[in-house]
Amino acid sequence: MKHHDAMFIDGTWRPAAGAGTIEVVNPADERVIATVPAGTAKDVDAAVRAARAALPGWAATAPAERAARLSALRDQLAARTEEIARTITAELGATLGFSRRVQAALPVVITGSYAELAASYSFEERIGNSTVYHEPVGVVAAITPWNYPLHQVVNKIAPALAAGCTVVLKPAEDTPLTAQLFAECVDAAGVPAGVFNLVTGLGHVAGQALAEHPDVDLVSFTGSTAVGRKIGAIAGGGVKRVALELGGKSANVILPGADLAKAVQVNVADVMRNSGQSCNALTRMLVHRDQYEEAVALAAEAVGGYVAGDPQDDESRLGPVVNAKQRDRVRGYIERGVQEGARLVAGGPDAPEGRERGYYVRPTVFADVTTDMTIAQEEIFGPVVSILKYESEEEALRIANDSAYGLGGAVWAGDQETAVAFARRLDTGQVDINGGRFNPLAPFGGYKQSGVGRELGPHGLAEYLQTKSLQF
Ligand code: NAP
Ligand code: MG
Repeated sequence: MKHHDAMFIDGTWRPAAGAGTIEVVNPADERVIATVPAGTAKDVDAAVRAARAALPGWAATAPAERAARLSALRDQLAARTEEIARTITAELGATLGFSRRVQAALPVVITGSYAELAASYSFEERIGNSTVYHEPVGVVAAITPWNYPLHQVVNKIAPALAAGCTVVLKPAEDTPLTAQLFAECVDAAGVPAGVFNLVTGLGHVAGQALAEHPDVDLVSFTGSTAVGRKIGAIAGGGVKRVALELGGKSANVILPGADLAKAVQVNVADVMRNSGQSCNALTRMLVHRDQYEEAVALAAEAVGGYVAGDPQDDESRLGPVVNAKQRDRVRGYIERGVQEGARLVAGGPDAPEGRERGYYVRPTVFADVTTDMTIAQEEIFGPVVSILKYESEEEALRIANDSAYGLGGAVWAGDQETAVAFARRLDTGQVDINGGRFNPLAPFGGYKQSGVGRELGPHGLAEYLQTKSLQF
């Protein structure tokens, strides 16, 4: 597969300081498709220096000029959608249809939204006898995961550039090729040298060196809660700003009176997308006892439509998970669910038939799940749905909020007012009402252990700004 044996630093592709490499593996067949350099603290330092040197110039550009560069970046991403989608499918295993429709397409929309916001945002306001300037925070460290390899990058880089910040990106070791394509697009968009820099490498080496670097002003991280906690501590120690987008265990609450068949079908599709590797996946389905068995049957039927297959094949609806470690982890959770007494109604821990090669997991549905079970509390990050039973609305609310996380959520009811009233009592950052669509401008981020800060739209832009007040 096409790749660079280099880092993108200060506007050029240059060799890494060390000789270490990372093998990029196609999770559908376990073959190595490329090798990229494993950056070290030296590369990180070179990248941060480049970002620091570029900061005064970029911070001083007119917002209209930053908007023009973001608009050019949008056009680059749009022109290369097919190549990006194929790269994501090759290194992540997302089905090609999903890679095209979501993985590659959504970042085009989001980059476009920041081109518009850069041009229209009020970077200056009057408050009493003060003029308040919203200035860039400075040098940003962006550390991203593999599950949405371009989306997670764009969610950080586009608002950072719109704000006038400069950036060093350390993408996930599993998906560096998409990050390299992104760097090519930034370069082609005419973004000045040093404003955006890419260091591929391992989390505990390059990622940690970047988070710890004294010349980084803000660390924006998306990934596991375990690593997020570490990064938060490092940032606290260095008095750096920090944004953390962490895990989730989101509830889909189906209230009596809802369109049950639709609610179940949408829920199953939501968990199956990207092989269950979405931080806001609706992994807990809550159903009233009177409709419970009907919902279980509907879920089992719906999951039957997701046959694991080669993600390159246009017909495939469920690809593998990203790597062997994740596959083993997901299968471990399925075994744990059975041990703890949940009722397996579809799927199971074994490899899907005919898919012994590749990191495949059977689409799985558990019924009779209770909140004390591990599968009701921990993020599985695989194609696994847990169905819980409630007797009253109050109990549904207690179960939904009985989680360390609070990222996504959904409520279905016979009428919108009932659903909204329920949603207002959920401890979570987003709630979809009766199947409401994803909004790329709405603030995205977590309550509780799901994180700190918000991404997307004007709220996402504000994360990269700090105020300076002048009194008259
Ligand atoms: P992870 O380790 O948290 O990885 C996220 C990013 O942080 C990667 O770029 C990673 O680099 C880097 N990293 C790892 N250790 C670091 C450190 N000590 N200092 C700085 N950066 C570091 O996540 P994972 O191991 O890939 O996935 C594990 C679990 O996390 C999943 O099962 C899932 O539950 C959760 N997860 C959540 C999201 C989300 O969107 N919220 C995304 C992915 C995973 P490497 O790639 O080299 O490890
Ligand atoms: Mg990791």
